[in-house]
Amino acid sequence: MPRYWGLLCVLLLWLGGCHWLRTGRPETFAPVATHAVKAVGDCAPRCTDSLDIVAMGVGGYLMVPWRDTTQLLMTPPSFTNPTLWWMALGDWWLGSAPDQQRTARRLAAMPSAGTARLSRVRAVLVGHGHYDHLMDLPTLAPQLTNATVYGSSTVGHLLAPLASTAPWRVAAIDSVAGTDAEHPGQAIVVAPHLRVRAIAWDHAPNIGNLVIANDHERAPRTSLPRSVHGWKLGRVHAYAIDIGVRTDSVDVRLFVHDAAGSPDVVRRAASVLRTMPAARRTIVIIAAANFDQAHAYPDILLAHLAPDHVIFGHWEDFFRSPEKPPRIVRGIRGTELVQIVERYQGKRWTALSPGATLRVKF
Ligand SMILES: [Zn+2]
Repeated sequence: MPRYWGLLCVLLLWLGGCHWLRTGRPETFAPVATHAVKAVGDCAPRCTDSLDIVAMGVGGYLMVPWRDTTQLLMTPPSFTNPTLWWMALGDWWLGSAPDQQRTARRLAAMPSAGTARLSRVRAVLVGHGHYDHLMDLPTLAPQLTNATVYGSSTVGHLLAPLASTAPWRVAAIDSVAGTDAEHPGQAIVVAPHLRVRAIAWDHAPNIGNLVIANDHERAPRTSLPRSVHGWKLGRVHAYAIDIGVRTDSVDVRLFVHDAAGSPDVVRRAASVLRTMPAARRTIVIIAAANFDQAHAYPDILLAHLAPDHVIFGHWEDFFRSPEKPPRIVRGIRGTELVQIVERYQGKRWTALSPGATLRVKF
């Protein structure tokens, strides 16, 4: 019976003419064009350093701290992007394999996140195990020759089939993740001036009250999942990436998460951040997908963190080939998200087309 749920859902939504199936016009988010660089920061004329944040696709970002470009960080991109119709009608029977050729073409089309840079990634930060964040990571493994992949134990178990072939190390972060001010967790030292803190997060429903593949992988797998539904959610984490760590402050804190979070988890995460050294600048990558499925998201987050700049993450329709011009993800009203963000940020926000860069000067 579960095989028919996907089909049933899509048919019902289609018959209902529901907004869940409609993509939005990208102009709403005015995304920075592929290959373009948008600079932000109010340090002129004495800017001494910068951080590049390169969009790779969906939840994938490459972080390039220019002080030391041998120590990059990444969140995993999505390139395969099975269509909604395939997920409803084909995936249950025939599965969905990562599109390795498309992945190679995408990397070639994005020199700012190409092979040379991927070899210098030291930390891959995985927020949860869903296919749109993890299915294409194994294809990138040969490029990630100096990386440690951080994620939940579910993420570790899902990637276990690559343990003897991938050059990376996988580290489960469940036990070092902060949950609240009383249990702030432990810093992961990526490099002397570069630290990461994993923080417990949650995942807004994908549709109705339903979170897809809402389960844990409880033992190491012997083969990668063949269906998108095999990529299980597991525990969900946000990450605070501290760049330019000093004794009592950090130059830039980048707060990333790849799903809209509940008010409770947002408040707890903010309380963890308050136990950490103060950041001179804070950048937040929010999750546009399903933002309206979590109460007061991203309002509470932006009110707590008062970031210097916001990036709209996970905004492209990931049921569409990334080789076509992007459109806004199905199921959200883009203008509503812009209005919410501008209430807190004014115009201090950016959406990036895949291959575009936000340069934070400091
Ligand atoms: Zn997800």
